[in-house]
Amino acid sequence: MSAPPRGMPPARLDVAALAAGVREGSRAAIARAITLVESSRPDHRVLASELLAELAPHTGGSVRVGITGVPGAGKSTFINALGVRLIARGSRVGVVAVDPSSRRTGGSILGDRTRMGELTQSEQAFVRPSPSGRQLGGVARATRESMLILEAGGFDVLIVETVGVGQNEIAVSEMVDTFVLLTLAGAGDQLQGIKRGILELADVIAVNKADGDGESRARVAARDLMGAMRLLLPGKDVRRPPVLTCSALTGAGLDEVWEAVLEHRSHLRMGGSLAARRAQQQQDWMWAMVDAHLEDAVRETPSVRERRASLEADVREGRLTAVEGADRIVRWYAQDLQRPG
Ligand code: GDP
Repeated sequence: MSAPPRGMPPARLDVAALAAGVREGSRAAIARAITLVESSRPDHRVLASELLAELAPHTGGSVRVGITGVPGAGKSTFINALGVRLIARGSRVGVVAVDPSSRRTGGSILGDRTRMGELTQSEQAFVRPSPSGRQLGGVARATRESMLILEAGGFDVLIVETVGVGQNEIAVSEMVDTFVLLTLAGAGDQLQGIKRGILELADVIAVNKADGDGESRARVAARDLMGAMRLLLPGKDVRRPPVLTCSALTGAGLDEVWEAVLEHRSHLRMGGSLAARRAQQQQDWMWAMVDAHLEDAVRETPSVRERRASLEADVREGRLTAVEGADRIVRWYAQDLQRPG
């Protein structure tokens, strides 16, 4: 698909009708709206922006939770089990995934469909895999905007799943109220497996697979982690994330993890920092969008598009330094901007 020629009006889509469909909770409308916000086509971006403006007054009411953990930590199993519980208590649960690396399999999509089987089949849930084949910036934008659509569509719990590989976590912690780290016992030294930065982002830590033989190991790991958190966040008045154990498989401890999420949220609310956190997130997002817009514009400008491959090769093979390459790209972009038309 390519953008329509410059100056042509984009194919018209009835934004007001789509917004109304989303607000009524129509699954078809929600799916369509998410597909729209995932698109990077310039005409789609215009429509997405209109749609989000229409929906904005109806957003902000959900419990927004991020869940991270290395592959195999049990995230999908956990989200499925937790989601089913929350639905049984009357919630509607939206799940979106941030996995820019999902290119490798064409998406964690297939995996998620099966691993979150019960949840995907529930009318009260909406599971949206990460758009595949994108840069983190694009995925992060699509995820945020998808969250707003789900929120306007009446999903009162939003779960953002991310694979624990570093950068993604920072992006996700910037879109949620509470960030849960799902971890495992036994994989060698606890702290080697978990990046310190991720521990610092976590609001709640849960050691998963606390069942059968794994139960006592999970408890030991939780105790070790608690000790580590005391070192990482010393002081009397510091709020350290609770470290719990759970089993996504048996359901043991899941209610406690959810209570810890709600407790963290009410802690934020009482101090007024939930609003502050979200306000800061809006401001950061604005600048992130500026970065993303500029980067898209730079990559798409004709001089850069035409010369990009050879420039990249020059940098890869050492004929040009990265700094020189960047200077050239910015110069070509600036020249294209000056050109009439
Ligand atoms: P993800 O990659 O983090 O999404 O992990 P998955 O949810 O796919 O789980 C990875 C594997 O661990 C699967 O085989 C699950 O059945 C298993 N698993 C997940 N949670 C638990 C648990 O609480 N206990 C046990 N014993 N196995 C679990």
